[in-house]
Formats: sequence, structure tokens, C-alpha cells
Amino acid sequence: MKIERIDVLPVRLPLKAVVTLARGVSRTIEEGKQIAMVKITGDDGTVGWGEAGPSRRWSAETTHSVYTTIKHYLAPALIGRDPFDMAGLHAAMNTEMAPGLDPGQPVAKAAIDVAVHDLICRHLGISLQSWLGGKRGDGVELSRLVSASGPDDAAEITRAALAEGYRAFKVKVGHDPSIDVDVVRAVMATAPGCVVWPDANQGYSLDQALLMARAYEDLGVTVFEQPIPMTDVTGMRRLMHATRLTIVLDEAAMGIPYLVELMRRDAVEGIAIKVNKVGGLYYARQMCDLARSTGMTLIGSGLMDAPIGFAASVQLFAAYGIDFPVDLNGPQHIAEDYLAKPYPMDGMRALVPDGPGLGIEIDEDKVAAFALDLKL
Ligand SMILES: [Mg+2]
Repeated sequence: MKIERIDVLPVRLPLKAVVTLARGVSRTIEEGKQIAMVKITGDDGTVGWGEAGPSRRWSAETTHSVYTTIKHYLAPALIGRDPFDMAGLHAAMNTEMAPGLDPGQPVAKAAIDVAVHDLICRHLGISLQSWLGGKRGDGVELSRLVSASGPDDAAEITRAALAEGYRAFKVKVGHDPSIDVDVVRAVMATAPGCVVWPDANQGYSLDQALLMARAYEDLGVTVFEQPIPMTDVTGMRRLMHATRLTIVLDEAAMGIPYLVELMRRDAVEGIAIKVNKVGGLYYARQMCDLARSTGMTLIGSGLMDAPIGFAASVQLFAAYGIDFPVDLNGPQHIAEDYLAKPYPMDGMRALVPDGPGLGIEIDEDKVAAFALDLKL
């Protein structure tokens, strides 16, 4: 099989809620969830789907950048190639778009990578999880992302989420250190016995993070996600050794070379994997293997993924048996999507779908109805 055609389709899915990161809302209700969908067609007629849905206040890619990068640089380099040569495809993409501290526009590359995985698995008639070669789980438990203006708001969000069936909560902190501990405390008091952990998205200085870690320890928190800027290697090491909390790196764990450097400098003990931030499943699985074989804590999350990114993540995390609740919060925020039938859930457990590839069916009429004019 050869890659015959690559279509890039910008769409906008309506949102029902926003997330506030340390730098501000990740995307507004008016912006919606914007993605560049990628449809790859093989010369035998098999089709695979991927998508790029960047979060511009999380990392430096936008809907416009992923669209132009895929259309003008990545796709032309891949037409005519063997989709089973995953290493060769990534090398070709890295020739066009050079890696640096991160894998070089990883969200754009991940869209191609996921579409190619879907394509080859559909061609073989196997699930992505089978291709990944791990059946440690048949699904993953979702956590509820709590993005609150204060403790009362946090308690109210948590109560509503408990009623929906959530039993794990990731709390966005880092934008107002004066209220963060009270916000986390309110979530824990409202949801006793549940998993609760803060994510600062690089929002604290080292001195703040050292103080906050002590306060979170006193609350009984065990995991603290990306407290300080990803470039502060010395700070990450100092923080890691100053607290009983497991420091999980997310923004700092964008790619293998930087992760290996953090390991050399004894500055990492846990990582959060996102399929899109690392450049796709090809790299994500290598990072999962690295974490598993070195005893690092391994957790999973995403970038408010629409169903394609969501399905790819669930299949990867289930393959690796990630049992810490995962922050795949697309369903919590996206009001409508392009699926022909709803994603399979068991309460708040997202299941690995039956069927080849990603195991989901795309309704192309819906894709057309959600089409976005990027006004390029
Ligand atoms: Mg994070």
C-alpha cells in the first residue's frame, strides 16, 4: 500500500465550557474547538483519520499553523510513501519541520501520525491497541478537569461532577497562588476518597512551588503536575528532591531528547503523555516504554481532544495499562462532534472501541457541516 492522497479539513466544533490555564482561557466559546482533520487515503482505497487540535496558550501551535504546515510541508513529503514505514515517515516530516526542544510542530505531525496508524490498522483489520501490542487494559477512567474561580466555585463544580459519575479530579492552579490551596482543599473536601491532583501548567516560580508543594502535601495530595517552567531543569530537580509529592512533568516531557536530558540530570520522576504534544503515537509509545522500563510514574492526558485524538489516546493508554485517571477532557467541553455514533463509555470509563483502527466511524456530512473558513 502507498499513501495516495492527504486531505486537510479545518472544522470548528461548538464548546459548552472553557478551560482556564495559567496564561488565560485555552480557547473561548466563540473560538470553539478548532481542529484540522486529516484524511489519508491509501492506493487500495483504505482511509485513515487524524486531527490536530492545538491549544495556543498551552504550546506554540495554532489552527492556522497546523493547517498550513500539514498542507504545504508535511503532506507533500509523504505522498507515494509506504505507510508501514512509520520511522521513515517521521524522518521525512522532521526533514521538513526541524525538531528542537520539542519535536517541531508536534501537534501537526501527530495528526499525520494518527491518521497513518488508523490507515494501516484498518488495512490489516486490527485495532490500534493490537498494533501497539499491549492489552493491559480495556479502557481508561476519565478525570474531571476543575477550572474554578475560587473554592466555592470549585466545590460546586465537583458536586456536579460527582453526580455525573466522576471519581477523579485534576485541578487547574498556578494563576492565583493566594487561592490555589483553598481551591484544591475544597475539591478534596467535596469528593472524599477520590483522586485529586493540581496542575500548574508552569505557572509557579520555584520559590512558590516549594511552598505550594508543602501545602499540598499537608492536604494529602500525592501528585503535582508541571509546577514550574519546563526550561528550569535545576528547579525541577530541587523541587523533586524537596517534596514527598511525585512531580509529574507535562510541558517538559514534549519529546524524547529533552526527556533523556532530564533523566541524566536527575530532574524527572514522572511524566504525562499526550499523543499530540509528542508528535504522535510513534513517539508516545517510545516514551511510555521509557517510563515503564525506568520506573517513572506514567500518567495520560490530552489537549481537550475531539473523538479522533480521544480514541487514539484511549487505545494507547489502555495498551500501557495506565490506571491513574486520565485527563482526556474533550467530552467535558465539546458540545457536538463528527462521530456517526457515540463513543463507547461505561460510566466515566472510556472503552477501547471494537473495530479496526481507531474503532470510530467519522460522519463526513457532519465534518462538512462543521467546516471552518480559516480566511487564509
Ligand atoms: Mg498538564
